[in-house]
Amino acid sequence: MAWDFETDPEYQKKLDWVTEFIETEVEPLTHIGVGLGGVKSKTYQKAVRPLQAKVKEMGLWACHLTPDLGGQGYGQVKLALLNERLGRVGLAPVVFGCQAPDTGNAEIIAHYGTPEQKKKYLWPLLNNEITSAFSMSEPTGGSDPLYFKTRAELHGNEWVINGEKWFSTGARNAEVLVVYAVTDPEHKDPYKRMSMFLVPKKTPGVKILRNVGVGGQQGGNEGYVQYTDVHVPYDALLGPRGAAFELGQVRLGGGRVHHAMRTVGQCQKALDLMCQRAVSRSTRDGKLGDYQMVQEQIADSYIQLQQFRLMVLHVAWLIDKHKDYKKVRKDIAAVKVAMPKVYHDIAANALHIHGALGVSNEMPFMGMVTSSFVMGIADGPTEVHKVTVAKQLLKDYRPDNDLFPSYHIPKVRERAREKHADLVAELKEEWAQRAQSIDAL
Ligand SMILES: Cc1cc2nc3c(=O)[nH]c(=O)nc-3n(C[C@H](O)[C@H](O)[C@H](O)COP(=O)(O)OP(=O)(O)OC[C@H]3O[C@@H](n4cnc5c(N)ncnc54)[C@H](O)[C@@H]3O)c2cc1C
Repeated sequence: MAWDFETDPEYQKKLDWVTEFIETEVEPLTHIGVGLGGVKSKTYQKAVRPLQAKVKEMGLWACHLTPDLGGQGYGQVKLALLNERLGRVGLAPVVFGCQAPDTGNAEIIAHYGTPEQKKKYLWPLLNNEITSAFSMSEPTGGSDPLYFKTRAELHGNEWVINGEKWFSTGARNAEVLVVYAVTDPEHKDPYKRMSMFLVPKKTPGVKILRNVGVGGQQGGNEGYVQYTDVHVPYDALLGPRGAAFELGQVRLGGGRVHHAMRTVGQCQKALDLMCQRAVSRSTRDGKLGDYQMVQEQIADSYIQLQQFRLMVLHVAWLIDKHKDYKKVRKDIAAVKVAMPKVYHDIAANALHIHGALGVSNEMPFMGMVTSSFVMGIADGPTEVHKVTVAKQLLKDYRPDNDLFPSYHIPKVRERAREKHADLVAELKEEWAQRAQSIDAL
């Protein structure tokens, strides 16, 4: 009997420590803007480094990584339980060494980087000494990488990159940009036309045109980046030439699940606040929570969250089992599709139950609702992932070549009759005898 929903007691103790630590030590820092100035700022060094040291002492640093990379090797299920807690507070992943987009970028450098690239970028990224950005989407369209236009042309022993990238999160403070560019536009396999590059942000020709904000955010973090005649050496190439799609799948597979794990935390937070309000706020003859339509919103939110959480934990378990994101592609896509809807619905219920306060900028709910839309767009829009789910499912089905399908009830009945011809004969006999006894009455 291998099914088990228990967390091992030793790890549970660590999780309890995490809950308390985030609430008392990490959350207050987010309210005074620590972290916005980047890892090299004085306030970051002063406030965040000591917290990171505590996390390391507790053996909880970089839990998404294997021990050879300085992580704990806990696997995805334990990571999911941790990320649920980290997801409640924006700065927490940074304090625990597992913040996007550095996690995914470090993962592909670990898999595909040369020893020099690892020395220059991987170890500093893993130690949170530098940060990175993933520069893939373009202003002309992000959903279909086959349409990307940014080019990298080989001139002698140098690549020259030209193009524009859109929503490169964290480009503002990044030391290195992971850039997708077309290197082989004539390759017969369209999925082999692009390569990935590690481009230091200070390279001449790299220019951030704007830092775009999400929702009402001031001073955004989404870089609109222009690359004009950016010269990088041949070995700025990350992984084999033409392998950007392959690397992208490795990177985004894990990233999407980690977002989902953190979203569970946000949904749990919204549910907690909703329940807190329902038992506190009075109206007419009782508390909000005494009214059935409020109860319905609370119950629906709880049920959606439980379904989603189990789905996320199951995907995490599948990744641990197969150790190959490709084998879990359908389930990762399914989680990606479920995430924005569950997050939206629960955040919207929490907002609604708080009335005017809920829509105000004194509460986190408008931000949560905006984030739920982000979850449906970032890392590919919902529609694209639904197509993946459906295509993967359909692969396991073979066509019926007959006019009526094999499950057409008359056919099913005919097959059953053939399989159990002796029983059918006995049944006929029984019914004939019964008919005779009824006739005899
Ligand atoms: C907060 C945030 C952070 C991001 N961070 C990064 C980052 O760090 N690096 C990076 O490279 N990118 C990043 N992105 C960009 C993200 O990957 C793209 O926004 C996404 O891939 C969609 O591309 P698009 O915005 O150009 O929308 P479009 O491609 O124009 O699509 C718009 C809409 O069209 C519909 N649509 C598109 N394709 C299909 C289809 N095949 N079938 C049916 N409908 C379709 C969908 O409704 C979709 O939402 C981020 C985005 C957000 C919102």
